[in-house]
Amino acid sequence: MTLESVPDRYAVIGNPIEHSKSPQVHALFAQQTGQAMHYERLLAPIDGFAESVHEFIAQGGRGANVTVPFKLEAFALAQELTPRAQAAGAVNTLSFSVDGIQGDNTDGVGLVRDITRNAGVPIKNRSVLLLGAGGAARGVILPLIEENIAGLVIANRTQPRAMELAQQFSYSGVPVSSAAFEQLDQCFDVIINATSASLDSALPPLPDCVFGPETLAYDMMYAAQPTIFMQHAARQGAKVRDGLGMLIEQAAESFFIWRSVRPETASVYQWLRDQL
Ligand code: NDP
Repeated sequence: MTLESVPDRYAVIGNPIEHSKSPQVHALFAQQTGQAMHYERLLAPIDGFAESVHEFIAQGGRGANVTVPFKLEAFALAQELTPRAQAAGAVNTLSFSVDGIQGDNTDGVGLVRDITRNAGVPIKNRSVLLLGAGGAARGVILPLIEENIAGLVIANRTQPRAMELAQQFSYSGVPVSSAAFEQLDQCFDVIINATSASLDSALPPLPDCVFGPETLAYDMMYAAQPTIFMQHAARQGAKVRDGLGMLIEQAAESFFIWRSVRPETASVYQWLRDQL
């Protein structure tokens, strides 16, 4: 193999990491767009994220996705941050160049694309309820606001976290407020479940009035079967969608950042859906 034909190296870094679907997704993107790249799983020790990244760079790594539990450490490690990474306070995409380590966050744009393009649900001037105030919730707020939604309400089990987030985005020009689950008393156009409750088959205690026939209830979690949140929302008459499309779209945005080529996502989505 000549030096020119050695594929560029990328990785997804996390702990645990065996479950990650990113290598398959990026392999399909690379095949489809003819990019010479190799994408692998990298298990970093819980106390060794930065060392693992530097080692990967020394071995020729060009970029990396970052997953649980390292998104905050990736934020701290990056020498340059995009505005959306800054707003998120977390990084899921690292790029390595002679200028150093750049950090971005593609989760929010992935969610917005999946809702507006793939599901065909417009969000401009629509009311949005965001459930959760963890890393995933934080990452999607600025991209939602940038779509000129009518307003955002953040509800979280630990209320001060939702209040703090609402305060952080109060400058944005879009009304952002917080509420306890039980206090919600209006119907929303879009409800995004960014809690990890579905992982434990638990439901945030939402009043039924938040769901209407035109509501899109979106669970960031995905599985072979509809999540408990989707099942509940469907019983209330709402339209439902899981987070598989968000996963693919955030990966496509990372791929674009690294390779300046935008892969087609529909066939990759279908392929992955069939694997679940
Ligand atoms: P975090 O651990 O950072 O946050 C978890 C959030 O869930 C917190 O707001 C927490 O509330 C809340 N929560 C946990 N259990 C319950 C419960 N039983 N009832 C109500 N609220 C609960 O996780 P992330 O933000 O990183 O991830 C959240 C979800 O989003 C996960 O399911 C993850 O898989 C998914 N995700 C999907 C992506 C995709 O591409 N599809 C991308 C990123 C995440 P509290 O503050 O009170 O603890």
